[in-house]
Amino acid sequence: MQRKIAIILALLLITSGIILPIRSTMAASSGKNLVVNGKNFRYNGPPISIKINGKTIDSDVPPVLINNRTMAPVRIITENLGVGATVKWDNTSKIVHISWKGNYIKLPVGKSEATINGKTVKLDTNAMIVNNRTMVPLRFVAEAFSMRVGWNQSSHTVSIEKSQQHTDYDMVKHISYDENKNAAVIETGSVRYNTSKLSYPDRIVLDIPDALLENPNGNNFISIRNKNIKTIRWSQFDKNTVRIVVDLDGKADYKVEKAADRLYLYIIPDETPDKPGSNGNGNSNNHVIVVDAGHGGKDPGASSADGLKEKDVNLDIALKLNNLLQNAGYETHMTRTNDSYPENMDRAAMANNLNADIFVSIHSNAFTNNTAVNGTEVLYYPKEQSKELAQCIHDSIMREIGPTDRGIIPRPNLIVLKHTKMPAVIVETAFLTNPNDANKLRNKEFKNKMAKAIFDGIENYFNEGD
Ligand SMILES: [Zn+2]
Repeated sequence: MQRKIAIILALLLITSGIILPIRSTMAASSGKNLVVNGKNFRYNGPPISIKINGKTIDSDVPPVLINNRTMAPVRIITENLGVGATVKWDNTSKIVHISWKGNYIKLPVGKSEATINGKTVKLDTNAMIVNNRTMVPLRFVAEAFSMRVGWNQSSHTVSIEKSQQHTDYDMVKHISYDENKNAAVIETGSVRYNTSKLSYPDRIVLDIPDALLENPNGNNFISIRNKNIKTIRWSQFDKNTVRIVVDLDGKADYKVEKAADRLYLYIIPDETPDKPGSNGNGNSNNHVIVVDAGHGGKDPGASSADGLKEKDVNLDIALKLNNLLQNAGYETHMTRTNDSYPENMDRAAMANNLNADIFVSIHSNAFTNNTAVNGTEVLYYPKEQSKELAQCIHDSIMREIGPTDRGIIPRPNLIVLKHTKMPAVIVETAFLTNPNDANKLRNKEFKNKMAKAIFDGIENYFNEGD
C-alpha cells in the first residue's frame, strides 16, 4: 500500500516536471488533495507540525512531507525569523529570494540547485508550488540561516531553534565628521563592515552587521556642505544592521580604515574638472532640480501603434532638459539616465533626500479608446507651489509649441507627486496613441523644442518666485 502510493507520487512528480528522487514513502493517514506544480495528487502523508523556538506555528497551507523532507510555505519561515527577514517571489523566473541577517538564498522552483550567498549548493528536494503557495525545503532554509533543526518522528514535528547569539552585538557609539581627514568617524568596536558606492544621488553606504546604535533616538544627521560631502546620516537600518550614508556632492571615492575603537570612512574628492556652467561665470544659482524620466526598464509605459515606447521618449526629452538646466547652472539630478527602472517611491525619496527645490517628471500620454485625443497637459499635486510650477511650464509649452491645450490638472494620488515634498509636476508631453502626436514624439526637433519649453517654464517659475 505505502509502496504503491510512493510510486504514484513519484510518477506524478516526474510527470509534473519535477525530478525528485523519491526515497521514502508517505505514511498513510487522512487523504488530502493537493495541487503540486499544477497537477493534482492525493497526499496521504501525516500532518506535520512546525515549532520555532518552542512555539507551534500555524499555516494556512499545511506543511507536507515529500521525499522525507518537510516542505513548508516560505512565509512560515520568514515571518517567524523576526525583523529584517525578507522574502521575494519572482513570478517570471520562478525564483524565491530570501534574505536575513546578511545571508541571501535563491531557490528556483523545480530545480535541484540553490544558491547561498552566491554559492551554488545541491538540493535533494527542490522548491515547489503546492496549492498555489511556494513551498521550500524547511531544513535547507533553516540551516542556511544557521538555525538548528530537529525532527521528531513519532509526533511528526520539525523543531527549529534560532541561535541565541544576540549578546555579541557591536555598539555604534557616536558618529562625527573629521574636517582635516575629510572622513566620517564611526566610534565602534566592530571590525566588520560592508561598503557600496551608489549613484543618483551619489552616496557611499557603509553597513555594520550585528551592530546597534547606542542612541537610536538621538541625532542621526550631520550637515557638512564641505569639500565633497553634503551630509552624513545614519540609522538602525534593521534589527541587526547600522547603516551610515555619506551623501556626496558629485563623484568621489572612498577608503575605510580601522583604528582601535573606530572606523574612518574617508571621502576622496574626484579631481575631474567642474561641469560647464558651475564654474562661476555661468548663470549660477542654488536651485536643485530633479529631472525624472517616467517609466523605464521593465516598465515601458505607453506605446504608439507602431511600437514607439514611452520610456524611450521620456528619457530623450529628460536628458535634453537636464542638459539645458545644467548649462544654465542648475544643480540637477536625474532619477535615471538609461533604460533602468527606479521604483516610483525611490524617485520621490531621492528628491526628498536631496532636498530638491522642484521635481519635474517627463511622460507621454495614452488614450487607447480614442486615438484622436492629442495634446499636452501638466499634472501637479494640489498645492499652491506645485500649481504655480505646472502653470509656468504649461504656459511656456503653449507659447513656444502650441499643441492642443489640455490644461493643468490636479492629481493628488500619483506617487511621484504625492510623496515628493517639493513642488512636483508631471509633463504629459503628447499622446503616443495619436498618430500625429506620436510622429512628433519621434522627431528630434520636436523633442528639443519640448525640452526647451519646459526649461523656459522652469526659469520663469524661479524668476517669478525670487
Ligand atoms: Zn507615463
